[in-house]
Amino acid sequence: MDLKVVKFGGSSLADANQFRKVKDIILAEASRRYVIPSAPGKRNGTDTKVTDMLYEVHRQAERGEDFSASLKKVRNRFDGIIADLGISLSLESEFIKIEADLKKGSTAAYAASRGEYLNGIILAEYLGYTFIDAASCIFFNKDGVLEAEKTNECLKQLLKQYPRAVIPGFYGSMPDGTIITFSRGGSDITGSIVARAATATLYENWTDVSGFLMADPRCVENPRPIPVITYKELRELAYMGATVLHEEAVFPVRYVGIPINIRNTNQPEDPGTLIVPNADDHIPDTVITGIAGKLGFVSVSVEKDMMNSEVGFGRRILQVFEDNDMCFEHLPSGIDTMSVIVNAHDFKPKRASIIADIYRATDPDALVLDEHLALIAVVGRGMVRAKGTAARIFKALSTADINIKMIDQGSSEINIIVGVEEKDFNAAIRAIYHEFVK
Ligand code: ADP
Ligand code: ASP
Ligand code: MG
Repeated sequence: MDLKVVKFGGSSLADANQFRKVKDIILAEASRRYVIPSAPGKRNGTDTKVTDMLYEVHRQAERGEDFSASLKKVRNRFDGIIADLGISLSLESEFIKIEADLKKGSTAAYAASRGEYLNGIILAEYLGYTFIDAASCIFFNKDGVLEAEKTNECLKQLLKQYPRAVIPGFYGSMPDGTIITFSRGGSDITGSIVARAATATLYENWTDVSGFLMADPRCVENPRPIPVITYKELRELAYMGATVLHEEAVFPVRYVGIPINIRNTNQPEDPGTLIVPNADDHIPDTVITGIAGKLGFVSVSVEKDMMNSEVGFGRRILQVFEDNDMCFEHLPSGIDTMSVIVNAHDFKPKRASIIADIYRATDPDALVLDEHLALIAVVGRGMVRAKGTAARIFKALSTADINIKMIDQGSSEINIIVGVEEKDFNAAIRAIYHEFVK
């Protein structure tokens, strides 16, 4: 029997009109039994997300300032939705508690989580579904790491008791009961956790675009939606900045093979993107599935003649990064050079120490830093079969007069990473996109 877990993002629940669309979607299929709401998002381009408003309230509380006006604004957003929907619900006692908790010094995570918590209460009332507080079933350990199995067991039991429920996204609780959140956009993860516990047939993730697009719509005009994508491809794209779905949201469902369907609340008739464990029976009509990229990398290149015959050379370089508590992103290497690509933000404060340590550890002929690097991932399961994909990428970039600073092909053959200067980032993505999508 079909059972769907449905998650609605902030823009899908930004006001009463969006709530009505959400209710229509849920009622259209009896299988849509478990609902994960985000906090109300932006109603227009200049609006502020409730989550951001709550972080601001917390900042004021923390500084000992009077936060009542800011908290009142948050309350007005929720009261406005309740009034417009015409439901009889008062959040009076909730706001009294939130105000008191903030005065007692509650954390930023607690403040932020109230956005999903209150929105969940409203949505449950509006749908006539049971409200389940995520603090009672999404567990983190004292270090803030999700306790996946404990959570799964507890949720399983709860869901058995309640056939239709709303479980707010984004937060859970630690062993001492303190509220903690995932990183931003984390309601996607809650949806995935609930889908696993419910043994759902499908996890529907409703947002404001008609699926995963082949490139960021802020960079490429009208990019094509991707009909079917594998978890692996999605993970590569999400990690590299295609943020439609939180990069960690595939893990809980991947474990049990539940597909995810990205859908558009504002255009529910569109099929969206289906994310599946493997797509052997769905041959894409483009060689590449999608393109994503990120700014803010540094390449640290170490040159030394005959480094390949020096046993332990690579390890010594990587040891320097480990000793400086840094992870690396890529490791392209040549005969006498090896480059370590790292995140610029983390690298900057440790720059001097890392350079000195590399000199000490490897006695290189040269050490070259390439800053302001952008990485672009071209991802596609179709690349395994197609010949000449890399050549087409390079041709497209050279025709656009863009210099390639680095190349790395993942061993799984489903992605090719190219490094370009940050200033060429958007043009490079457009050039690659138009090479493969005619
Ligand atoms: P929600 O609030 O529903 O969780 P998000 O804002 O987190 O929605 O994610 C949807 C947004 O992701 C889109 O509005 C779009 O601007 C952005 N985005 C970035 N890259 C892509 C892509 N490749 N495909 C679709 N959307 C993308
Ligand atoms: N409301 C939270 C955020 O803005 C979580 C989410 O929307 O998924 O990050
Ligand atoms: Mg999101």
